[in-house]
Amino acid sequence: MKRIRITIQGAVQGVGFRPFVYRLARELALTGSVANTVEGVITEVQGSGEAVADFTKRVVADAPPVARITSVTIEELAVEPDETGFVIRSSEDSRQKTVTVLPDLATCPDCRAEILDQRDRRYGYAFTNCTNCGPRFSIINDIPYDRPNTEMRTFTMCPDCQREYHQPADRRFHAQPNACPICGPQLSLEDGSPIAGGKEISRAAVLLREGRILALKGLGGYQLLCDARNEAAVIRLRERKRREEKPLALMFPDLDMIHRFCLVNVEEERLLQSFAAPIVLLSRREDAGLAPSIAPGNPNLGVMLPYTPLHHLLMVGLDFPVVCTSGNLHDEPIAIINEEAQAKLGSIADAFLSHNRPIARHMDDSVVRRTRQGTQYFRRARGYAPLPLRHQREMPNILAVGAHYKNTIAISFGNQTILSQHIGDLSTPEAHRAFARVVEDLPRLYDFNPELVACDLHPDFLSTQYAEGLGLPLVRVQHHHAHVAAVMAEHGLDGPVLGLAWDGTGLGTDDTVWGGECLLCERGSFERIAWLDTFPLGGGDVAIQEPRRSALGLLHRADLEADFPHGFAEHELALVRQALEKGINAPLTSSVGRLFDGVAALLGLRQVTTFEGQSAMTLEFAAAGRLGEAYPFEVDNTINWRPMLGAILKDRDRGVAVSDIAAHFHSTLVEVMVAVARRADVKQVALSGGCFQNRLLYEGGAARLEEAGFTVLLPRELPPNDGAIAAGQAWVTAYN
Ligand code: ZN
Ligand code: ZN
Ligand code: FE
Repeated sequence: MKRIRITIQGAVQGVGFRPFVYRLARELALTGSVANTVEGVITEVQGSGEAVADFTKRVVADAPPVARITSVTIEELAVEPDETGFVIRSSEDSRQKTVTVLPDLATCPDCRAEILDQRDRRYGYAFTNCTNCGPRFSIINDIPYDRPNTEMRTFTMCPDCQREYHQPADRRFHAQPNACPICGPQLSLEDGSPIAGGKEISRAAVLLREGRILALKGLGGYQLLCDARNEAAVIRLRERKRREEKPLALMFPDLDMIHRFCLVNVEEERLLQSFAAPIVLLSRREDAGLAPSIAPGNPNLGVMLPYTPLHHLLMVGLDFPVVCTSGNLHDEPIAIINEEAQAKLGSIADAFLSHNRPIARHMDDSVVRRTRQGTQYFRRARGYAPLPLRHQREMPNILAVGAHYKNTIAISFGNQTILSQHIGDLSTPEAHRAFARVVEDLPRLYDFNPELVACDLHPDFLSTQYAEGLGLPLVRVQHHHAHVAAVMAEHGLDGPVLGLAWDGTGLGTDDTVWGGECLLCERGSFERIAWLDTFPLGGGDVAIQEPRRSALGLLHRADLEADFPHGFAEHELALVRQALEKGINAPLTSSVGRLFDGVAALLGLRQVTTFEGQSAMTLEFAAAGRLGEAYPFEVDNTINWRPMLGAILKDRDRGVAVSDIAAHFHSTLVEVMVAVARRADVKQVALSGGCFQNRLLYEGGAARLEEAGFTVLLPRELPPNDGAIAAGQAWVTAYN
């Protein structure tokens, strides 16, 4: 006889782990117990040495598909001679909360089959879930993950649901959000006309077919839907939402239909059908019959599959894709509360498909894409948050508040960093409130008290000001240093690492605006060994929305003259020129993002943008997915782009196709990476910053650096953009 205790850590709660352990123990005729604790799942088993050994192996090998085990600890215990049977203990509440909260999980095939089966008691039921799927992070109010600690606490299970919940052999054994049409949350449709109960979804489908805009209460907030083939409807949605040109995401009824509209490879299929069910960026097929204003001038589409029963039930009745975008005005955070949504979205939506299950916290749809180097995350929210980054080192208790754009926050403790869901740009009062909510919510959930706080250098960021107000030891981390540190955190590296941090904007240590940085990073510090030669931005921050100002700054710095269709009135142009000449209200920048802007403007592609990164995307798309030949440039302490600019203008003026110039431009930057890396004489090169959302720079740069003998470190699960800044701030601060 033998008795052991096994502690299993990771994402092991809310995934059917205890029932699985129960069944396994019974099968092997073991006695003992299993419990969810704040440290993870703890099980004690007793039986023959052989059965116990078998159990130890299979508890990991046969674990439920959505579980992610990060550690297994085994201790030998004294045999308890009187024990009979195996029990599931109710969760206990003690000690440090190290357990992993699971992200929301897309509807599993079994649940999907049930809601579409007329003979099933959950036929047509929009809140069906089981231990393998359903809401998690979006309904959890406290740890451990038990029903009273979720937004399901007010719904009392009916006898049938109770039976499933207590029956170890059932797929819903201890499924905390278990519900059915008798006892669970209910739908409501508000479109001004009374409808019979049970017809909400079919009526909503009719409205979509008629070209109306539907606000739907999803998993992590309200979404706005309309027929993706109906140009008038899409334009109406854009006008009402005040979203001019930024691409809109689509939801398709099924994978087959995605294939009709997009090119999809096996890995992309796997991502679309994964438990995270993110928006996947795919190459679109030409002339697929979609409304032109969904993603104007963009060869890609952001595409997802239904991921809740409500989405499945709605989409199964449609034979076309729908626009499915965050329920918000402009770039505000997604609305989650019914009344708030009515107030905010009332002027956008023609009807509301809502329900009475509260949402614990906002959660946007995540955005990913496949590259030659693996999956790249653009926005990490539903389906991924709050899965932690695991470290080999012990982290002090750190709260990192992130930057300004694409804000996320992070908390570090023990051997992990937990990154919040995407919050967004902290530009509006609503975004400020969302930030304040998350920065309270995440620490509270984990019973976490910070000892150190990390923020950006920029004194004007709301996040910085919040950090300053906490009265705790504060570490200010330079923006691009944080970009590189985020990659080092993911790879668990002390350095030295050469980080190429290329993005739009970040405050430097010398009060100029950085964004084309080559930083030698080791442990918690960095040395700026090279940067993009600076140029002035006439008018300052307004240049972010006006690429033509970058173009004028580049020309000024290079002492070149060139005409381009900037669209400035004469007096405006005079003002910009004056600012550049006198160096007043013309801050210097080393930003690669602004270099993209300037070149795009000079090539006549884009003078004024309506969303962040638009002109850089236009220039990338102009290159049509290929690199060319590098233009001349020089690298010492600075990256001298002036020879390149001269060559670009020469090519332009002698009529070389814009697509060729764009390809050469990208190649130049790829060669710059190699030249900088050679000069730095470091083996490991990390790529980070918003510019690496550009596929040519990311794939081309990584491939070319590898070819030149460098080890390339890329972001793994963190985005290359500012969504990773908080994690990088925490990593740097941990060396303090
Ligand atoms: Zn399920
Ligand atoms: Zn029920
Ligand atoms: Fe950045």
